[in-house]
Amino acid sequence: MMKIYGNENLLSTLDSMVSSGRTAHAVIFYGEKGSGRKLMADRYTAALLCESPVNGTPCGHCKSCRCVVPHSHPDVTYVPTSGKLGGYSVETVRSVIHDAFTRPSNNSGRKVYIFRDCRKMDSRTQNALLKLVEEPPEYVSFIFTTESKYEFLPTIISRCVCFGVNICTEEEAFASLCENGCKEDEAREAVSVFHGNIGRCIDYLYDQELRKRVDLTKRLSDSIIRKDEYSLNSAFYTVSSGRNDTLEILSMLDKMMRDAAVLAKDPSAKIVGCGKDAAERLSTVIAPYQSARIHYRLEKARSAIDANVNIPLVLAALCADIISIVA
Ligand SMILES: [Zn+2]
Repeated sequence: MMKIYGNENLLSTLDSMVSSGRTAHAVIFYGEKGSGRKLMADRYTAALLCESPVNGTPCGHCKSCRCVVPHSHPDVTYVPTSGKLGGYSVETVRSVIHDAFTRPSNNSGRKVYIFRDCRKMDSRTQNALLKLVEEPPEYVSFIFTTESKYEFLPTIISRCVCFGVNICTEEEAFASLCENGCKEDEAREAVSVFHGNIGRCIDYLYDQELRKRVDLTKRLSDSIIRKDEYSLNSAFYTVSSGRNDTLEILSMLDKMMRDAAVLAKDPSAKIVGCGKDAAERLSTVIAPYQSARIHYRLEKARSAIDANVNIPLVLAALCADIISIVA
């Protein structure tokens, strides 16, 4: 079982739920991408199914535990997504409902349904699922993972126990990377970009495309520092037309704006974005109120992309607005 860093309070809450036999039948693990919410879902699943948990902690050795980690446990269903946007369809939920009423065939006496990345679950699908989440058969458990619990309808939230999964400290992230075979200088570089977010640090080390997106974010901030509309436009132009990649770049740029605003008030403040140098330079050329306006503008662009507006159009309008804010 992979070691989970940080989140001590959450882990001990889950352990005491399991050891006291008062497990929730539906839980939501929410947290930023890379924070370990899927790892937490796997650990909770293992604890629910473990043949001999130790004070609520999955033993890691029994047949159940050994099947949960590689996702091959017959009583655990990772509900598949479908469609262009990778959402959960009403048809899929109907088949889950149908399946849930068949008793588990294995010794664990439980069935666990895991819905990952529920950012893509629309309200029609949630409504189809509501009745089952409200009154599931006693052997059924649901686990949802998502960035924000407010992706769910209030009716679903009220039936679930919600747990926030937090990123770790930079020291914990560094230790985790080194423990998993990463060289110290590489670990240090990854932590300087993604801080205590271990999942993103690992992605940064092995995913060349993510590195390109980080570099592009720095190029965008550099163009804002120079108030250079042409270069900002051409940097935005190279953003791929992929929806998720674009959203990620806007989100990284947004964090940099947040850092610039904070650093302008307190140069020793902790940063959350992917470039300390860039944020420091931004903080000297744009005022916090300008960073805040750019932040609102970036949010607007993100919701437009979420609503499927043409990406190049969104970015062109964003570019013009950012330049008018900083000019
Ligand atoms: Zn076990």
